[in-house]
Amino acid sequence: MDKIAKTEDQWREELSPAQYAVLRQQATEPPFTGQYVDTETPGVYKCAGCGAELFRSDDKFHSGSGWPSFTDPAVADVVELRPDTSHGMVRTEAVCAKCGGHLGHVFDDGPVDKGGMRYCINSCALRLDSADA
Ligand code: FE
Repeated sequence: MDKIAKTEDQWREELSPAQYAVLRQQATEPPFTGQYVDTETPGVYKCAGCGAELFRSDDKFHSGSGWPSFTDPAVADVVELRPDTSHGMVRTEAVCAKCGGHLGHVFDDGPVDKGGMRYCINSCALRLDSADA
């Protein structure tokens, strides 16, 4: 996979302030505020930073957490997992493997019949490419 490397100035120019805060500064959007929390539209969720195909609508589920939630990435290795001990918690960070953008976190309390994982992702790190469009 070709990695994307841009300066922070370039990212700041290309992304909205909210996208920049999440993707480049590991911020978390407030729950139930993102545009894709309840979305059921079929399609592919791409990285808002680089366009990499990250998640499919087929793997999206309603977790009640307030963030879009997926059981699996679209393709193995497209989402990189890193240990994250910030904010006094031990969590697993989900990162776009292509541009290094912060997406959200991964937890093991997802639907058991679908592997048990919950990729808890910020809406503003995503851009839905609707299959209907
Ligand atoms: Fe990306």
